[in-house]
Amino acid sequence: MPQTMTETTGVSAKAPGDFLVTPHFDVLIVGAGISGIGAACHLGTQCPDKSFVLLEAQETYGGTWWTHRYPGVRSDSDLFTFGYRFKPWLGAPIASAEEILKYLGEVIEENNLATHIRYRHRIDSASWSSDLRRWTLDGTRIDTGEELTFTSDFLWVCGGYYRHQEGYTPDWEGFENYQGTVIHPQRWPEHLDYADKRIVVIGSGATAATLIPAIAEQAEHVTMLQRSPTFYFVRPNVNELAETLRELDIPHEWTHEIVRRKIAQDMDAITKMSFEQPDFLREILLESVRPLLPEGFDVERHFSPSYRPWQQRIAVLPEGDLFSWVRAGKVSIITDQIERFSEHGITLASGEFLEADMVITATGFNMNVLGDIDFLVDGEAVDFSDVVTYRGIMFTGVPNLAYVFGYFRSSWTLRADLISDFVCRLLRHLESLGATMVTPALRPEDSTITLGPWVDPENFNPGYLTRSLHLLPRQGDRDPWRLLHEYSVEKEVLPGADLDDGTLVFK
Ligand SMILES: Cc1cc2nc3c(=O)[nH]c(=O)nc-3n(C[C@H](O)[C@H](O)[C@H](O)COP(=O)(O)OP(=O)(O)OC[C@H]3O[C@@H](n4cnc5c(N)ncnc54)[C@H](O)[C@@H]3O)c2cc1C
Repeated sequence: MPQTMTETTGVSAKAPGDFLVTPHFDVLIVGAGISGIGAACHLGTQCPDKSFVLLEAQETYGGTWWTHRYPGVRSDSDLFTFGYRFKPWLGAPIASAEEILKYLGEVIEENNLATHIRYRHRIDSASWSSDLRRWTLDGTRIDTGEELTFTSDFLWVCGGYYRHQEGYTPDWEGFENYQGTVIHPQRWPEHLDYADKRIVVIGSGATAATLIPAIAEQAEHVTMLQRSPTFYFVRPNVNELAETLRELDIPHEWTHEIVRRKIAQDMDAITKMSFEQPDFLREILLESVRPLLPEGFDVERHFSPSYRPWQQRIAVLPEGDLFSWVRAGKVSIITDQIERFSEHGITLASGEFLEADMVITATGFNMNVLGDIDFLVDGEAVDFSDVVTYRGIMFTGVPNLAYVFGYFRSSWTLRADLISDFVCRLLRHLESLGATMVTPALRPEDSTITLGPWVDPENFNPGYLTRSLHLLPRQGDRDPWRLLHEYSVEKEVLPGADLDDGTLVFK
C-alpha cells in the first residue's frame, strides 16, 4: 500500500521569543484501537496522498484489547465481522484478546503503519481556527510529561466509547469498610493470586461471563451476583460455513467475505426478531441455556431480563463454559440487590450475607465523549450535548471532524469500516471542490426535525450509556441527522449519501 510520511511543519509561538516547530499533518487520528488502525489503513489506501499521524495515549496499540487483561478476556462478536473487511480472519469465530492483538499487529505491519503511530501521546484539547483552516491539538506525553502540539487539516477521533484509565464502580453503602481485595476487571493486576479465595463477581455482562469460567478452577468458589439478569446465547465456537469453505481450499479472502455476509444476514434476522417477536427470541435464548443448568435451576429468575432481547448486548458463551462450572458446584448465581458492604462481605436485600475474600466489580464503564478532548471552535468551547450529529459521524458547527462510534448489536468494526469509506470519500470531495473546510449545518427545511438522544433508550439502553446520554450529541428523526444502528441499512445508505444535499457546508 502506498504510504505518505510527509509531515510538514509550521512555526508557532506559545510565548514571545519561544518559537516551536509544530508538526502538521493532513489528517490526525486519535486512538490506535481497532477503529484508529482501520482508519489509518483505509486512509492509506483510499487517499494515498494525505499525510497522517495516529496518536495513542497508551504504550501500545489495541485499545480495548490492550487495556483489558483479566483472565479469559475475549470477544463476544465473531472475528469475521469484528475483523476488518480487508484482512481475512483465519481462526475460530470468538477470539482472545491475545489473538486480536496479534491480528492488529499484522495489520500494522502489512500496511506499514508503525512509523505513523506515536504512543504515549494523549490529546487533551483541540482548537479549530476558521482563519487558519486547521486544528491545533495540545496534549501530553504520558511518560515524560512533555507538552505536545500538533496541527492538522482534519481530525478523526477514534477514541472508543469509554475511559480506559478507570472503570465504573457504583457507590455502595459501607464499601469503604470492606477489608477484602477489590478488583475492577479494567485494572487487573498482573500477578493477582485468587487461588482458594471466595470470590464475588458483581455483574453478569460479557465481562463477568468470560472472567468467571477462567478463574473458577483455582478459586475456592465464585458467586456471580447480579442485580438483574443478562441474556446469554450459548453456541459452539466454530463457524460451520467457514469450516466447509476452508476444507474446499477456497481462498481466505472469499471465505472471509462470504462468512461476513452470512453472519450479517443472520444478525439482521435476529435483530428483526428482537423487535417483532421478542417473546419468541427470549424463549430461544432461554432454551439455549436451560439444558446446561442443573435440574430445578430457576432459569426465569436468573436468565430472563426485564428488557427486550437486544435492548442490551446479548453475551455469547462459547460452549456454555460458564454453566459447566455451575454444574460442577464451583460457581453460583444470585439475583439480588446489594444492601451494604461490611468488613467481610456483602449483605443482600433478601437478608442473605455473602462472605468474600475478594470482590470483582464487573460493573461496566464510564463513557468518554470524543476521547475526553476539550474542543474549541474559533475560540468558543463546544458542548457536545448541544450539537446535532450528522449520520453519527460529524457534528453541527464543528468543522473537519469525524468520529467513530460502532454498532452495539453487530460488530463495532462493521461500522468503523463504513465510516472510513465515508471519511475518505469526503476528503476527496473537499479536494475536488477546492475547499478546505466542511461543516454540517441544519438547513431551513430541517427546522421541523424532532431531536432526541444519541441513542433512543427504547432501542438500546445499557447502564453506561443511559448514565451518559446527557453528555452526548443529539440526533434527529430523519437522515442525515440520525445515528443508524443496523449494518444492513447503513451499508446501503452511507456509501450513497449525497455530499451535496446542503447539509454539509463546504468552504
Ligand atoms: C472486554 C470487552 C470486550 C468487547 N468485545 C466486543 C466484541 O466482541 N464486539 C464488539 O463489537 N465490541 C466489543 N467491545 C466494544 C469494543 O470496545 C469495541 O468494539 C472496539 O474495540 C472499540 O475499538 P476502538 O478502537 O473504537 O476503541 P478502543 O478500543 O476503546 O480504543 C480507543 C483508543 O483510543 C485511545 N484514546 C482515547 N482518547 C484518547 C486521547 N484523547 N488521546 C490519545 N489516545 C486516546 C485509547 O487509549 C484507546 O487505546 C468490547 C469491549 C470490551 C471492554
